[in-house]
Amino acid sequence: MSDRLSVRWTVVARDCPRPVFACPACGGDRPFHSSGKIRLNANGKRLDAWLIYKCDGCDRTWNRPIIERRLAAGVPPGDLAALRSGDAAFVRRLAFDLAALRRKTPVILQSGRVDVEKVVTGGDAGATGVDIILAVPHPVGLRLDRLLATGLGLSRSRIGDLMDTGRLEAAGGGNALKRPPRDGQSVRLDLAGMGDRQAILTAAG
Ligand SMILES: [Zn+2]
Repeated sequence: MSDRLSVRWTVVARDCPRPVFACPACGGDRPFHSSGKIRLNANGKRLDAWLIYKCDGCDRTWNRPIIERRLAAGVPPGDLAALRSGDAAFVRRLAFDLAALRRKTPVILQSGRVDVEKVVTGGDAGATGVDIILAVPHPVGLRLDRLLATGLGLSRSRIGDLMDTGRLEAAGGGNALKRPPRDGQSVRLDLAGMGDRQAILTAAG
């Protein structure tokens, strides 16, 4: 019997980030959402590719440039095949590329809606502590304290109290709770002597 339960939480955003800018059709700033579709245009030996977005308000399209006037021979074959087939994982990676989106607009909406897949990697139900490793393949828009509260079945104020009393430690320090979870981030929780230890262990794994 181990005194610590080890779990891995994989946190997956349900919605892609939405860049905000003025929509020429409905006027005013509007969020645009990825349609998940790629448009590829070959002109001689040059290639252009766009990821197609649609205005939340009116469905007006915005073509986000992915490659511009590039020599086809200079595009990695794997990328080219993925662009041609509209490979879902490839398109998702593009849609979550916040650095690239920020070069187009400073305002990007990130939804806090996530799915969390929990896997127990060690320990058992008799544990008095939990070690959580977070896997976050794409950036998510919710704070760590909200993720932990939902994932552990506790209130956010309780999460704050656990941090304040030293029972909860998150890599990244005291402000980590207010920031989004990072890929590979670790969280340690000490449950010794707590009345709802069993419920928290069950929720964690
Ligand atoms: Zn619009």
